[in-house]
Amino acid sequence: MSTALPRVRSGLRACAAGLLLACASVLAAPEPMDRAEQIAALDHRGATAPREAAHALDRLLPMVPPFSAERLELLTVRGLLLASTAEPEAAERVAQALDDWGRARADAAAAAAALLVRARVLWERGNLQQADELLTEARARLPAGLPARTRLRYTATHANVKDEAGKLEAALQLSLESAALADETGDDWRRAVALTNLAYVYYETRQLDRASQANAQALDIATQAQDDTALGHVYNIEGFLLGELGDRDGERRAMQAAIDHARRAGAKSDEALYLANMADYHLKAGDYRTALALSEQALPLVRELKDVSGETVALANIGLAQIALRNIETGKRFVAESIAIDERRGSVISVATTLEELGHHLEKAGDAAAAVQAYHRHRRISDEILQRDQQKAIIELQERFDAERRTRDLVLLNRENALKDEQLRQRDLQQRLWWLVAAGFVLSLVVLLLLYRRVRRSNQALESSNYQLLVQSERDPLTGLANRRHFQAAMKQLAADGKLNGTVFLIDIDHFKRINDAHGHAAGDTVLAQMAQRLRDTLRDQDLIVRWGGEEFLVVVHTLSPDQVEVLAQRMLDAMGAVPVMHGGAHIDVTGSIGFATFPIEPLLLAVSWERAINLVDTAMYLAKAHGRNRAYGVRLLHAREESVLDDITRSLETAWREGKVALTLLQGPSGLRDAVA
Ligand code: GH3
Ligand code: MG
Ligand code: MG
Repeated sequence: MSTALPRVRSGLRACAAGLLLACASVLAAPEPMDRAEQIAALDHRGATAPREAAHALDRLLPMVPPFSAERLELLTVRGLLLASTAEPEAAERVAQALDDWGRARADAAAAAAALLVRARVLWERGNLQQADELLTEARARLPAGLPARTRLRYTATHANVKDEAGKLEAALQLSLESAALADETGDDWRRAVALTNLAYVYYETRQLDRASQANAQALDIATQAQDDTALGHVYNIEGFLLGELGDRDGERRAMQAAIDHARRAGAKSDEALYLANMADYHLKAGDYRTALALSEQALPLVRELKDVSGETVALANIGLAQIALRNIETGKRFVAESIAIDERRGSVISVATTLEELGHHLEKAGDAAAAVQAYHRHRRISDEILQRDQQKAIIELQERFDAERRTRDLVLLNRENALKDEQLRQRDLQQRLWWLVAAGFVLSLVVLLLLYRRVRRSNQALESSNYQLLVQSERDPLTGLANRRHFQAAMKQLAADGKLNGTVFLIDIDHFKRINDAHGHAAGDTVLAQMAQRLRDTLRDQDLIVRWGGEEFLVVVHTLSPDQVEVLAQRMLDAMGAVPVMHGGAHIDVTGSIGFATFPIEPLLLAVSWERAINLVDTAMYLAKAHGRNRAYGVRLLHAREESVLDDITRSLETAWREGKVALTLLQGPSGLRDAVA
């Protein structure tokens, strides 16, 4: 057998209304589903059990508000289901209700829905021409902006009508549109149905590769959704495609799979259809008895379902099997009945296919005359259907479609590239921004560091200048010795308890005024500086030397024995007076007078504050002045237990000395004599 066109039907009719999902909950007990969901579930259910779903929708109707979107949806689905279950009167009542609504509310969507339901009734009755006209009108009147699900019903129904009428170009275009709309709905069952329908139209237009592709896609979706009704459709089409490739085994297995899935789904009309197709397979395979048995099984089933197209397939197959089994006249009667029904309903392709198969079987059975007649009729109709320009138009259409798709792909690709470019640019920009931020951060860190260093340096400078200031403020600029201020600060540290511990020397240059007068003030300055240097040279670094007044120096020395103290006093006298000071070529003789004492004061070790100590030493120094200068007077012993006694003695030191209350040491300066006075 060469061709197997629409007599082996795809089951488009069932597809137009919907596919299966076991939504027993919707039918049995009210679940907490909203009404829109319930209607959608029943739409799906209608694909498998249209009668049951139509009744469930009927029960739902009173709960749906008038003139609502849900009501329009419900009425449309219900009308289509009623039409598919060959209840044209009930379907017409729905169409009427939709008409009324359309008029009352000037609602174009409702008016279009009425046309859709009526077109479906006409199609079921085989009036493809009128169905086509109504659908064309309905689609033209359909308002814009309706959901994809709604628009899909119109294009899918129209595609089926065009297909069955043999207008394959239009059928293909509408099937492609339907597939796109089904994708838009996002419902798996609608997508699977649309794809099997498209695969079937491809198959009819001999585009087997495209048919396989579309069907494979449908298989993926139906398998993922575990949708037995959809799987039945897919395997049905696969059977055709494998048969076309000459894979007889594969074809049979696919057809059996289709029957099994339909049974599992409880999709009666699908099952009947697939049985008929399987019968056709056995016809082709030459197993006429099995073909006859299967067709006779299918016939009552499709009649019960009022499935006219299934009925024509079953009748034709019974007839062909009978002819093959040499019951030629009986066979011819069955085939004629099938053709008559198809002709009545305007199903030209079915007629053509049946005629071709009839010719083939009559020829085989030896009825050459009848065979030729059948072939002639077949060719005439085939010519009508697949005219060369129509075939050309189909190819052109496909090319146009492919070109559009390529353009779309290109646009998408360009858009994607532009997007990628933009993303790259953004990333680049972001990177640059990060670098800038990082650089800014580093820069501010560097600036901060520099600032910090500068602040630290200026702090250090400040500290050092403060120190310098401090040093300067505590140092006499002429001699470089400590001044009184420094002495006081040092005393705070050295005499923590306020009592002095050590030996104090007070040194005064003799007749300094005269030096100034004789040699000038500058010479005086030189003398002062020289004396300071000589004292420094005589003393140790840790000894404190202070410029106490104009030409007076104070020296504080720690922990020396009385002998060492006297030696030191002598060395100072000598240092000052042994060598004249040179100034401007002049030799200036200089001597000094010194008063000194060691604290605490022997023998009673009276502790003394530094002010009292200096007072005492000052008095001793004046004694040295009074007794001729260039000498030193040291307080060796002073019998005082209290500071008040010390004060009294200080006030009249010479008297106390004479009275023996005080022991003084007398040291003579250079060229003088060293006397010790007890
Ligand atoms: P005496 O032996 O009794 O100590 O007599 P004197 O002249 O040394 O003492 P007096 O206190 O009468 O005079 C001290 C003089 O020292 C008075 C003052 O002009 C002078 N003098 C004070 N400070 C300085 C100074 O820094 N430079 C100079 N060149 N002279 C100074
Ligand atoms: Mg003086
Ligand atoms: Mg003096």
